[in-house]
Amino acid sequence: MRAAATAQDDLLAQARRLATEITGLRRAIHAEPELGLQTPRTRDKIRLALGHLPIRWREGPSTTGLVGVLQGRAPNSRSGRRVLLRGDMDALPMPEDTGLPFASTIPNTMHACGHDAHVAMLAGAAELLAARADRWSGEVLLMFQPGEEGWHGARFMLDDGLLGSAEAGTLPDAAFALHVMPNAPHGLVGGRAGALLASADMLDITVQGAGGHASMPHQTRDPVPVACEIVTALQTLVTRQFDAHDPVVVTIARIEAGTTHNVIADVARLKGTMRSLSPAHRARLHEAVTRLATGIAAAHDMAAEVTITNGFPVTLCDPRAVDLGERVTRDLLGAEAFRRLDAPIMGAEDFAYVLDLVPGAMFFLGFAPQGEDWTQCCGIHSPRMMLDESVMPRGAALLAGLAERFLAEGF
Ligand SMILES: [Zn+2]
Ligand SMILES: [Zn+2]
Repeated sequence: MRAAATAQDDLLAQARRLATEITGLRRAIHAEPELGLQTPRTRDKIRLALGHLPIRWREGPSTTGLVGVLQGRAPNSRSGRRVLLRGDMDALPMPEDTGLPFASTIPNTMHACGHDAHVAMLAGAAELLAARADRWSGEVLLMFQPGEEGWHGARFMLDDGLLGSAEAGTLPDAAFALHVMPNAPHGLVGGRAGALLASADMLDITVQGAGGHASMPHQTRDPVPVACEIVTALQTLVTRQFDAHDPVVVTIARIEAGTTHNVIADVARLKGTMRSLSPAHRARLHEAVTRLATGIAAAHDMAAEVTITNGFPVTLCDPRAVDLGERVTRDLLGAEAFRRLDAPIMGAEDFAYVLDLVPGAMFFLGFAPQGEDWTQCCGIHSPRMMLDESVMPRGAALLAGLAERFLAEGF
């Protein structure tokens, strides 16, 4: 990938000249998707694509994540600012059903969340920033991160010190990321200050009873009605104990108990997810759910064991970073290209770990084909999810523009 810079060239035009390279990298990654924290082939493709650039690379040890450091060379400027741009690298364990010529060649593995495009757009941004390095000063950290789909890849990379450390004051000053939205209007950028995405924690409840003959329940302690009571009481808890303006979601997605018609089970097991949009409500929800389940079980002379497995925290966007994103988008892509989202999305994203420590924002970028009814397009995590690749240069230009603008102006 090579970007030629001329003095009066604008970022978007430069990005468009990289379209073939950006698309090529995306397709190569799409055809060979990898899961989890170890994505070595994806890492190698990134290193190969950007091998000619003056990037210092940091790697390992916990994941195949990469941080590339690019240095600005603008004369007469002493910005010591550091800005991070992030692209995630991993795919999902699911079969692909797109029929694309570059569809996945790995069974049951698909880039259905668009992380292949995130990598390619970030590589494109690296190319643009390197070609324009005499226009900016400071440092850009290119964070290529595996293990977003539930693997806490961002947390591992932070723990490995690849992004610097809070104690030493070496973390970046701002952080930005994009996420593709295949079922949002072509080229539209969306963002919001505050909570953008929810925290997502796993809930496991085991109600311990004592089984026996189904015709003589008084000689048993039947965990099934108790489990059912917990399921319905959880919904009452959600609506009666939590402010509707700072909502939480609890879903019991699986109930498991018993074997046949006439045997009362020893145990009933519930599995579900808990979502919240503020750290305070997340903590309260954990306490309240535990109290409710153990309390209901105790009322029926049984015991409930509640296990909460923390997923990603709430993704909180800094208002200043969202404002900067709005300005950059309007300048680059036109006044109509940015939209403030009315409400957060209850999905979760591990960029939240970065935004916990570094002020910044994630933006959604619409990838529906131009002129098509975007509401009919398959969303992320669909086996038929497709992206209009002509949007990718815009994403690369947007990332580069965010970095340049932050390094020049700060928040
Ligand atoms: Zn995903
Ligand atoms: Zn994703």
